Amino acid sequence: MGGPSGGPGVEPGSTAHVVTQSHSSAPRSRDREAELRDYRAAFAVARSAMALIAPDGVVLAGNGALGTLLGTSPERMSSLDADTLLGLTGDPHARAVFREVAAGKRDRLRCTRLLTRPDGSSLRAELTLSRTGGARPLLLTVEDVGERDALREQLRHLAMHDPVTRLPNRALFFERLAAACEAAAGAGAGSGRVGLCYLDLDGFKAVNDTLGHRIGDALLAAVAGRLLACAQPGGHLVARLGGDEYALLLRESTGTGQATALAESVLTAFQQPFDVAGHRLAVSASIGVVEREAAGTSPTGLMQAADTTLYWAKADGKARWTLFDPERNEHRMTRQALSRTLRQAIERGEFVLDYQPLVALDTGELRGVEALVRWEHPHFGRLPPGRFIGLAEEDGSIVQLGRWVLAESCRQARAWQRAHPGTALVVSVNVAVRQVWDSDLVADVAAILAETGLPPRLLQLELTESALMGSAGRPLQALHALHEMGVRIAIDDFGTGYSNLAYMSRLPVSALKLDGSFVQGFRSAEHPNPADETIVEALVQLAHRLGLTVTAECVESAEQAERLRRIGCDTGQGWHWSRPVGADAISRLLA
Ligand code: C2E
Ligand code: MG
Ligand code: MG
Repeated sequence: MGGPSGGPGVEPGSTAHVVTQSHSSAPRSRDREAELRDYRAAFAVARSAMALIAPDGVVLAGNGALGTLLGTSPERMSSLDADTLLGLTGDPHARAVFREVAAGKRDRLRCTRLLTRPDGSSLRAELTLSRTGGARPLLLTVEDVGERDALREQLRHLAMHDPVTRLPNRALFFERLAAACEAAAGAGAGSGRVGLCYLDLDGFKAVNDTLGHRIGDALLAAVAGRLLACAQPGGHLVARLGGDEYALLLRESTGTGQATALAESVLTAFQQPFDVAGHRLAVSASIGVVEREAAGTSPTGLMQAADTTLYWAKADGKARWTLFDPERNEHRMTRQALSRTLRQAIERGEFVLDYQPLVALDTGELRGVEALVRWEHPHFGRLPPGRFIGLAEEDGSIVQLGRWVLAESCRQARAWQRAHPGTALVVSVNVAVRQVWDSDLVADVAAILAETGLPPRLLQLELTESALMGSAGRPLQALHALHEMGVRIAIDDFGTGYSNLAYMSRLPVSALKLDGSFVQGFRSAEHPNPADETIVEALVQLAHRLGLTVTAECVESAEQAERLRRIGCDTGQGWHWSRPVGADAISRLLA
């Protein structure tokens, strides 16, 4: 069959009506012939590639544009069948849809195919096969979408890559991360694990600020080059997540060792300075490493863990890699959980006090007790002060908690005094620096002493050196006011800070509590450490000359107690006599 002269029943589609209507006054048979000629001419010269196809699949006619597109002539096309023309032979599904369209069960078929021209070149084409009504032939239109798809691909590439380093950007990285998690989780054959090195340059901002963005960008690109050199092509994906942050993704990771080895190789690669635009720049990086089973891992979960770990690497001193540690993470979470519930816990009365004896070294008499707070947490059980005092200081709730500790200790001390009028048991209470600054400690102490009836000389307040150092103004006034009231002030953990004993001596202080590290430095009798003993002895003598009494903390053995007594220490506190115990146990000791 030659050209668009076509088979029987070739009729125009919707445009026909418009044309027909415009000629409605002319004689009918003349119109129809002219119309057909017009349509044939239009079909032949149309820039859209088209063909008419009989319902049985025979190509009735193809136009010039289609011939050009397919690298064939309109004449040759009409000898083909549609399956060949459309490249449907290898696609049973598309063929089935074609039959449905031909049978009138479906209105159209649209698909994209890779067609091969007679000269062997190929073409990406979008095919649309539409019914034109009744038993009339089907209209096939073919569009070359190769260029469009290439452009799309180019746009996608631009959208998914970072222009500075040409690395995949955050968006693409997350896409690949999600795919890696899914693939690894589903794979029976693969390792089923994923790994991630999350990297941040140390001190990049300084480069940017002092040398300018142009050099900053060049450095970022140079860093990308080094990272690519460390990565295994195909196995690792290197991406820039923004700013000076990069990520290396290990698909099909074989284990923690592989991920940390990659991080190590990156650190090694950074040991060489970078030569950028005439500048020699030494740059280090901190890396958070997370490696885990893909099953049950979400990309966001993995990124959060990596973020936390990177933060640890920075906090631990930079220029290093740090591996994710679930325990450390758990700790961080409970820290948050504790901090959220601290205030309510004080109101609910979830705190209790233990007391630890202070014993006279020469006579073995009980001289006092230190009140030590514990949190009876409904979920975490009994928590030592190390877990929450810092938090309470950070958020200010220490003021409220400290007031409770003070009131409860004084109430208890007064009860012991009533029960045992002959003994003068001092209660020693820890005071945080914020209590001095953020509350009226003097007024609180005065009110509590008045309420409980405890003589002021039986109350001792323990402050750390750092709280006392440089105290001027308000804290100093407070110390003087408390001293005047008759309350004893002790310096806690003495020797751990940058104490200036001469300065301390000008403060209204009554006692020194030597930090436990001094006593621990004593070692055993077989291996005495004379240096430590000499230092402690000198300290004790100096303190005595300044009118202070000395308590040694953390006394764990009889031997240590004996040496402290020889040196001249006044009192001792530690497991050698008793661990911190409940008030009842102290009552029994007194009896
Ligand atoms: P601190 O005032 O130096 O208290 C002494 C700590 O040493 C206590 O720990 C005590 O249990 C422990 N200790 C006692 N004897 C020995 C021993 O022989 N060997 C060893 N290794 N340790 C011993 P705890 O109860 O965990 O208290 C820790 C710190 O928490 C206290 O150190 C104090 O700074 C703070 N703290 C405790 N209660 C309060 C409070 O009510 N308010 C404030 N602000 N801080 C408190
Ligand atoms: Mg203390
Ligand atoms: Mg202490």
